[in-house]
Amino acid sequence: MSERQIVRNADGYFKALPPRVHVTLCQLPMAAVLAAVVLAAPAGWPGLLDGGPCRAAFGLHAVLLLACVLVPWDRLGPHLPLVIPLLDVVAVGLIRSGGVEGLPDLGLLALFPVLWISGSRLPARSSLALSVVAALLTGLPWVFEAGFAPSPDRIALDVLVPLLMVGVSLTVLLVRSRFTHQKRRSEDRETELQLLLTHSRGREALLGQILDTVDVGIVALDADGRRILTNSWQSQLEASAAPAGSPPSVREAELILTGHGHTAPLPPGRRPLQRAAAGETFADYLVCYGGEPAVRVASAGARPLTDDGAGSGGSVVQFHEVTVHIESLAAEKEVVSNFSHELRTPLTSIIGNLDLVLGDVDDLPAPAVRRIEIAQRNAERLLALVSELLKPGPRAVSVRPCRTDLAALVEAALSSAQAHARSMGVLLSADVSAPLWAEADPLRIGQVLDNLVSNAIKYSPGGGTVRIYASTGEGWVRLHVEDTGMGMTAADAAQVFTRFFRSPAARANSIPGAGLGLSITQDIVEGHGGKITCTSRPGHGSTFTVALPAGSTPQTA
Ligand code: ADP
Repeated sequence: MSERQIVRNADGYFKALPPRVHVTLCQLPMAAVLAAVVLAAPAGWPGLLDGGPCRAAFGLHAVLLLACVLVPWDRLGPHLPLVIPLLDVVAVGLIRSGGVEGLPDLGLLALFPVLWISGSRLPARSSLALSVVAALLTGLPWVFEAGFAPSPDRIALDVLVPLLMVGVSLTVLLVRSRFTHQKRRSEDRETELQLLLTHSRGREALLGQILDTVDVGIVALDADGRRILTNSWQSQLEASAAPAGSPPSVREAELILTGHGHTAPLPPGRRPLQRAAAGETFADYLVCYGGEPAVRVASAGARPLTDDGAGSGGSVVQFHEVTVHIESLAAEKEVVSNFSHELRTPLTSIIGNLDLVLGDVDDLPAPAVRRIEIAQRNAERLLALVSELLKPGPRAVSVRPCRTDLAALVEAALSSAQAHARSMGVLLSADVSAPLWAEADPLRIGQVLDNLVSNAIKYSPGGGTVRIYASTGEGWVRLHVEDTGMGMTAADAAQVFTRFFRSPAARANSIPGAGLGLSITQDIVEGHGGKITCTSRPGHGSTFTVALPAGSTPQTA
């Protein structure tokens, strides 16, 4: 306990005493000294109790002690008890004047009443004035003593004792004012701290309310991985995964949690809060809360809290519910899978029949054979695409790059697209000098070019031109497919490689499409270690650029 607290406690203790007890306690020290003098008198100063002044003094003090105990001070004014020390001083004066041979001057007894007055709650000035009066009163009986011939010693004493009392009174007052000042300062500081505390409690409550209004789960962990905050959204999510019959808040280790796409319970070390407590930082971590049929899927992410040296650290884990998205993705996947499955059978039949036709080309004119070959090649590509969509798990495109002449692929892509372009009033042209070597899978890059050229024609509803040109440099070969069609906004261009994305303009113009071609195209290009980009302006057309590694220069035969 600090010194200040001890003082505050003692102060509070004395304030709490009933006034009668308080007054009596103040009177007791002097009463004890006088009682000792009375007891010692028969042996030490035999004539002391025979003298009138001394008897009067002891009698007066005894009456005052009784008054301390009996008077209902609590019903009287707060300063009225000071009558007691004042009359005590008179008793001290009487004892002094009735002193006997051998008895030391008992004037110092006046210290008790003077200390009482100085330490009272009277204002400092009044208390000093009263103390001076009290000090002077100690010499009062002497003034009235008849025929008294003062000795120089006596005069000195009667001046010195009051002076001593005044000095003591002044000291007590100074100490008291210092103490009061300190007390006031500490009270002010306490009030200030209370205000700050109320303010910070208010802010904490506000923060809590804000956290409880958001539709995401938030958990804060301290540096030791202990939970220090959980908002109500998260509490509800956890309650939905608590085992039946368990209390509303259970530890994460006891919750029914599974990883997305798994059925076994998530091991303790893989649970999001445990991962965060172990100091891991993660994002988009899919976790299923609860069992069938009410599983809720949440995407969890953890970020560390920076340790600012004020004892923070730890981490914040957020949870977003993605159940609806996961369900719609699964439904979408099922639709795509069914759709692809339905396409496979007729496509296989088309390819088989084209094979049969091409097996006996003698009766067919050369242009017809060329067209059937184009149709067959495209049907095969379509089948490869459909098979790709049917593959379970994450779609990874298989590419087998080899030294390939891209100019030949450009020519093949343009000739395949000729019929389509003509029907749309689009003029196709190429500006690629052969050979143009690159490390590329001819089947896959053919698929890329077919897709880009077919898009360029498709999204030029009013006709126009589509041009393919090439550029090389820094170990890269770049093919640019440029059209003068409808184009799109920069925001749309940034999303064209996202699965199922279709620009609003394409939808508004009812141009058919599934939003899959460019995402597959991007997978193929990136599977080569290359890059595909798109620049576009609404109403002015688009340019898709495919960059592929140039590979080593081919040996001349
Ligand atoms: P699809 O053409 O089947 O819709 P894609 O993945 O090939 O799917 O294209 C995605 C979207 O990108 C298209 O729906 C269209 O909005 C936009 N897009 C693609 N190519 C072009 C182009 N050359 N000009 C304008 N918009 C295009």
